[in-house]
Amino acid sequence: MSVLRPISNISRRQPGRLKIPLVFLVIGIAIGGLGGYYLGQELAAQASADSAKSQTQNASITKPTEPVVQPVAAVGPDDRPQSKETELLKTSRRIEASVKSSLYATLAKHIEGREADVLNAHLGRIMVWWFNLRRDVLKNDQLRLLYLPAENPEDLRILALHYKSRKLNKSFSAYYFKPEAARYGHYYDKDGQEIELRLVQTPVKQYDQITERMNLAGRRHNGIDFKVDIGTPITAPFKARIQRRNWSTRLNGNCLELLYLDSGIHALFLHLDKVLPAAVPGKVVEAGTEVAHTGNSGRSTAPHLHYELHGKNGKLLDPFVVNETLHLKLEGQDAARFKVQRDKLDKILVPGESTRESSKPPSESRR
Ligand SMILES: [Zn+2]
Repeated sequence: MSVLRPISNISRRQPGRLKIPLVFLVIGIAIGGLGGYYLGQELAAQASADSAKSQTQNASITKPTEPVVQPVAAVGPDDRPQSKETELLKTSRRIEASVKSSLYATLAKHIEGREADVLNAHLGRIMVWWFNLRRDVLKNDQLRLLYLPAENPEDLRILALHYKSRKLNKSFSAYYFKPEAARYGHYYDKDGQEIELRLVQTPVKQYDQITERMNLAGRRHNGIDFKVDIGTPITAPFKARIQRRNWSTRLNGNCLELLYLDSGIHALFLHLDKVLPAAVPGKVVEAGTEVAHTGNSGRSTAPHLHYELHGKNGKLLDPFVVNETLHLKLEGQDAARFKVQRDKLDKILVPGESTRESSKPPSESRR
């Protein structure tokens, strides 16, 4: 789906089926203390880590016709005055909107230029795990959003999101959080459960985000994209035979095909930095064997791994459907730290609302 395109490939406007009056409220907020510290820290880390490889398009700027979003003032009692992190968080922006059309049209109407494109894509990458973005977004759904703009709009980050779906009669929440030992931050629900699914047998264990899922309708995408830094080791998810390497490199970049011996599934790994010399066709490797490094080669505009599965009959398979998946849940110190951050973000998103009740004990659920 189009909202999940790699950022650098997003067209400025999606075909909107509706028009969108939206109300954005501007609210002064308080961020500070522990949660603010972690958020700010993460932002600083992200600024240096995120690739600047994306191509910025010149977007026409739609002038807001009413006050829409404004920088948030740091006014909380637990604010750390003048700390670097707090200074960063002062630039957070809050949006509250009653959806009267597509999300994208709403954002595009009220936020200038490229920022609306990127914000829409980032929203989609979270919400795609909740419901069908084409069918389930309804007029008068309620959206609350807190995000950190960036000098380069490609680098903006959603910090927290509340979405109330009328069709599903359900409220959803997402909070950005980086576990202590994790290389990347991810989005978690109010109970500290990660919103994205993960593959139990995965080619990359630590990655930033699934930026595009498999989609055979509309804008076709034959696999899933892991946003991940160049040079990240790829391991064979299953015992496999190396089938071929580095074919059609103009499109695929450096690439690798494995045959999973137990299932007969063929797996393609595209846009690699390199295939390891030991990964020669005909060789059989055990699950967990390092075979390549992620990259940004071939027709690719940002560092990522494209992972694509074909069944015995050549039919495309969705890794999140045919393979075992799980939702990670925060535990121990991470869970405690998350709650602090979540509550701070909630105070900003819903000013005046008391802190939520404590959540369930951490665990891990598989399905
Ligand atoms: Zn892809």
